This record gives sequence, C-alpha cells and structure tokens, in this order.
Amino acid sequence: MGPSDSDNAIRLKPPPTYSTAPPTLCTPWRTLPCIGEPGSQGKNAATTYPAATLAASAGVHAAAAAWAVSDPSRWPVALGAVALNHAAIAAACVAPRSGLLGPNLTRVGGATGVVALTFDDGPDPEVTPQVVALLASAGVTASFFCVGQRAVRHPEVVAAVRGNGHGIENHTHHHHHGFAFSGPGALTAEIQRGQDAIAAVAGIAPRFFRAPAGMRNPWVPGAVADVGLRYVSWTRRGFDAVSRDPARVAARLTRGLTAGDILLLHDGNSARLPGGRPVVLETLARVLDAMAAARLGSAPLHELVPPRA
Ligand SMILES: [Zn+2]
Repeated sequence: MGPSDSDNAIRLKPPPTYSTAPPTLCTPWRTLPCIGEPGSQGKNAATTYPAATLAASAGVHAAAAAWAVSDPSRWPVALGAVALNHAAIAAACVAPRSGLLGPNLTRVGGATGVVALTFDDGPDPEVTPQVVALLASAGVTASFFCVGQRAVRHPEVVAAVRGNGHGIENHTHHHHHGFAFSGPGALTAEIQRGQDAIAAVAGIAPRFFRAPAGMRNPWVPGAVADVGLRYVSWTRRGFDAVSRDPARVAARLTRGLTAGDILLLHDGNSARLPGGRPVVLETLARVLDAMAAARLGSAPLHELVPPRA
C-alpha cells in the first residue's frame, strides 16, 4: 500500500500539548479503585486481583490433590501434573511477550501510519537529550519508560522529554533486577513509588508500566492494576543494551516493520561502541531511516491507546 496524506499528517504533526493540571496518581481510565479512595482495598489490593493463571494453577493443584486422594495409586500422575503446571508458569515468567500472566500489550492494534518507539532505563543526562534530538530531527514522538529514582535525579531531562511531546511512563522506582522475585506487597510498593516519583517530576501521571527486562511473576498483573496502570512489553527488541553492533540491533528491530509495532530501545544503560558512543544513537538513526523508507512515523503510547472507559 502506498503512502497517503494521512500517513504524512501523522508523521509530521506538531508535538501534542500536555495538560498543565497537577499530577494525579489515580488515572480516570483505570477500572480498580486507587489506594486511599472510597472502595480502595489498600496496599494489599493486588492480592485480591490475582492473574487468571494463579486461579487456574490453584485449580490444577486442587483437582490433582482430590484425584490422588480418591485413589492413592494415582499420586505419581497427580504430582506430574502439578510439576508441569509449575514449569508452565516458570516459562511464562521469563517470556516477556507472553499473555499467560495477564494483560500484556505487545503491539497497538488498529494503528495506521505509525509504530510506537519506546525507550527504557532513562532519563540519562548524556544519552536522553541526544535521543530526543534524533527524534525531533525525524519529526516523530515516542514513549520513555523512566526509572523513578533517575527521574528524581534528572528532572531537567524529564522536562526536555516532555517538552518535545513524548510520553513519560513507569519502569519501576529502583530498576532492581530482582523485581520479578518480589511478592505482591513489594511489587505494588515498588511500582507505586516509581509512579509517585515520576508523576511529581513530570507533572503528569504515567499510564503504562514495563518491568525490568520484561520479567514478571504471577503477582505482577495485580500490582500493575493496583497502581492503575496498563502493562506493556514490545513487538520486537534489538538488545541495544548489550550488543555492540548497531546494524544487527537495527535489523532485529525493523525486520517486518509494520504499523502498530512497539519497538524497545534504551536511553539508559546503553551499550557503548569502542569509541564510547552509545549504541542506541547509531541504532536509532538506522531505525528512523527504515521507518521513513516504510512511510511510518512514531507516536507515544498514550496517544495510540485510548484510556479505558
Ligand atoms: Zn529496564
């Protein structure tokens, strides 16, 4: 399909304006009550909204136990069923794009003419402004999944990101790699702390959350819902935080590039080329060229995904 005026209109449109209203930690599109509001179930509310996988797992355990109790000779098979259940959940925990652990946005359905560029692990005072400049030169906007404590440390960088029309989202407060080994209370506390910090610095509350390295456990969906956020992973990632080959990283990201794709890069923790230049900058230039060749722009997730009713 050839380029259309609407494609160009999306790609070249000016950055959106943001509300100047004070930040709110409770988003109007959430379906669950916020902590502290009437109807709220407090800090432990996550435990009342377990992932469907948890409920199904409990069912497997109960059924296996009942089956084995009714005939003790069946217990090896029952134990095997329980072990398989545990293995399936473990596999889902280390599969960032899996939907088994709950809602997981891996692409934007219905998007036309745009992908969703997303950047994790910032803000970084050296790299993020250069990423913002590259995006501006291409006339596109993106989403930045910020680490709360880094946002607090570099508020001027967050302001520059926002000022250029990009989205500011939640990537935890500390970016601990043990995040996915936390229990429900600790998960909610970590996501809420990041939400509070980022909202205070950015002046607007994030709507989306992504876990460090995309690793989750069965309690993450409840914790994300408890803070009033929506979970996002990606369609493709290029491993720009570990690879030193920008051409390969860009090729991974742009293979089969289609409107609605969510692409993951990193403006924080980027790998470095031998001369010290961040891999993400070389990669992003290539990705933007590929997007232009495909007549695709980019827009932030908060513009592409409508708020929940
Ligand atoms: Zn990260």
